Amino acid sequence: MKIVTRFAPSPTGALHVGAARTAIFNWLFSASLGGDFLLRIEDTDRARSEERFERQIIESLEWLGLKWQGEVVRQSERLDAYGQLAERLIDEQKAYRCYVTAEELGRRREEAKRRGEVFRYRREWSQLGAAPGKPYAVRLSVSPGEKIHVEDLVRGGIVFDSSEIEDFVILKADGFPTYNFAAAVDDARMEISHVIRGDDHIINAPRQILIAEALGFGKPKLAHVSMILGADGKKLSKRHGAESVTEYRLRGYLPEAVLNYLVRLGWSFGDQEIFTTEELVEKFSLKGIGKSASVFDSQKFLWLNGRYLRDLPEERISEGAIPLIAQRGLPEPPPERLRKIVSQMRERSETLNGIVDQSLYFFTDDFEYDEKAAQKFLVEQNGEIFELLAEELSRIEDFSHDNIHGGFERVMERTGLGLGKIAQPARVALTGSTKSAGIFDVVEILGRDAVALRLARAIDFIRSRNA
Ligand code: GLU
Repeated sequence: MKIVTRFAPSPTGALHVGAARTAIFNWLFSASLGGDFLLRIEDTDRARSEERFERQIIESLEWLGLKWQGEVVRQSERLDAYGQLAERLIDEQKAYRCYVTAEELGRRREEAKRRGEVFRYRREWSQLGAAPGKPYAVRLSVSPGEKIHVEDLVRGGIVFDSSEIEDFVILKADGFPTYNFAAAVDDARMEISHVIRGDDHIINAPRQILIAEALGFGKPKLAHVSMILGADGKKLSKRHGAESVTEYRLRGYLPEAVLNYLVRLGWSFGDQEIFTTEELVEKFSLKGIGKSASVFDSQKFLWLNGRYLRDLPEERISEGAIPLIAQRGLPEPPPERLRKIVSQMRERSETLNGIVDQSLYFFTDDFEYDEKAAQKFLVEQNGEIFELLAEELSRIEDFSHDNIHGGFERVMERTGLGLGKIAQPARVALTGSTKSAGIFDVVEILGRDAVALRLARAIDFIRSRNA
């Protein structure tokens, strides 16, 4: 059997981390068995679907490196096919037209609620013919008293009683299919072999099975994965902080870390925590998916991101930082300079944004002095030190780490001061604060011109203060 999986997001919001995990599982499952992974946009809820969300979801999937085969399938472009199949079911008396309006149904629902009863459609149209010219929905006839077996690859066999399922709508009055109809039709048409999705869809499984059986279509194998919970045990949502892949990207998370963190929510391979993508493809199987809910731990996620930030090649980190630098309106540094910044700062940060935040002084000469630092270090006697330092550094031909060190040593000799007494004021002059990368590294990365400019600026600052 050819393995074909699909990710079928509804474009009603950004790509939620839970949905991203579903996409990752489907992608990995097919990749691990040499199958295909398809993308289907389920945009049949006209009121809630938006194109910008579709774009955002696609961008997030691309960012995560989840490649799908073939064209994106859009359900809104296939209305004729659903309509024809619904007609066929009507002809075969497996479905019927129902003329009860949405308002009337709403009224009945309210009424049932008032009486404390479960609302059930009364099936009155199942025996009546067409009422020409009036809008109608199409409902599937569900014969009561039958057992529907769902063989779930994660949870085992689940049996549903068809008496619990009303004659549900498959085609709405506006000609759009319902989710269950479109999903069952497309899973068959796209020859999906396995559906992996959140267990909030278990209740849809018997409905989709009934539809496939009525149409005489094949049925995919199902695997329902447990929810992701927040630390408080409630379903993961906005209250728990960032919830979309886009937000994590903007916060400076790396796609490798996001992929690794999400795959481990609900799937395990022994107690291994860190996986390369190749390892995941090699090791992933449905057997590793647990039955219990997993808990989203933002601290651990951040920690994992920090690990990736330190372990991935410097070029990869630089590449990830560039859009975040641009986002702040800062000029993109030359590649070699950026690589040096990354190499210095990645030990001190957990995210790409952390790197950029702590490196602002590398990107612009136009930074503010931290007030306390200026008060303490940009004082008269240090003005002289800055002059000596500028002089010694300007003499260096090859502006290397060691030569810069030598320059500082000569200032130490000429002033009789220890390194700290020179390095700390210099740090404030060059970076605006008392915390930065190592002073020789800062000087090397900034380069001769920026260092000269910043020392001169600090000297001016001291003079104007004294004046
Ligand atoms: N559009 C559905 C969702 O986003 C897909 C469910 C499924 O995978 O069948 O939840």
